[in-house]
Amino acid sequence: MANLVLENITKVYDNNVSAVSNFDLEVTDQEFIVFVGPSGCGKSTTLRMIAGLEDITSGDFYIDGKRMNDVAPKDRDIAMVFQNYALYPHMSVYENMAFGLKLRKFSKDDIDKRVKNAAEILGLENYLDRKPKALSGGQRQRVALGRAIVRDAKLFLMDEPLSNLDSKLRVQMRAEIAKLHIRLKTTTIYVTHDQTEAMTMASRIVVMKDGLVHQIGTPKEVYDTP
Ligand code: ADP
Ligand code: ADP
Repeated sequence: MANLVLENITKVYDNNVSAVSNFDLEVTDQEFIVFVGPSGCGKSTTLRMIAGLEDITSGDFYIDGKRMNDVAPKDRDIAMVFQNYALYPHMSVYENMAFGLKLRKFSKDDIDKRVKNAAEILGLENYLDRKPKALSGGQRQRVALGRAIVRDAKLFLMDEPLSNLDSKLRVQMRAEIAKLHIRLKTTTIYVTHDQTEAMTMASRIVVMKDGLVHQIGTPKEVYDTP
């Protein structure tokens, strides 16, 4: 749970591609914000800057009032879920979920409790010893979500987490993520191309176009305009 402020965030890549310009956004505690817009409009770049995977060219970014621009990614208390799951193929489901906690020196008992709790929430109790290649797409995406949950991070960033799933599974996982948000109330920023996902999941939608914020509003405000 966190309050997030982006002030005038701008990203110009080394090759002079201007990916994001003067992005302003205030996200309040427990919100579920969805970024939509055509491919290349700067959604991923914005998420990656928040996560610390990409430097911010100019502007300021705050979590709960603390300026975060120069905080190392692992100290940001943010968990990110990617489109391609980014699971470690040689590790079991358990080890995949435990990895980020080990890195942060959580105790063995604490890790065990957190991983088992996340596995229960996500229905992965019987798959903890499996390697990712022995899981379905939906199960892999659940493991990726599990890695975010175990951390108990302040902020979840999800970059098109469902776009590799077939449409039936996408509908199911969409409902699961919505339920997860109701249960954990973690402030979330979710990137998608999918208007239905945006409409059903968002508290507010940010419509991006060519690196600019085109519109911000509730699903009704964004999609009901004549
Ligand atoms: P998306 O479907 O989210 O737009 P892309 O296929 O554009 O993803 O990008 C995939 C990866 O390639 C990302 O890590 C992105 O940062 C990187 N990338 C995208 N465009 C460029 C580019 N013009 N030069 C270098 N890397 C890029
Ligand atoms: P989206 O997520 O909305 O598809 P991106 O944030 O991936 O958009 O990309 C925004 C713009 O920045 C695009 O023009 C893309 O080609 C460019 N871009 C993305 N990553 C890189 C990179 N690593 N180096 C250079 N240009 C990039």
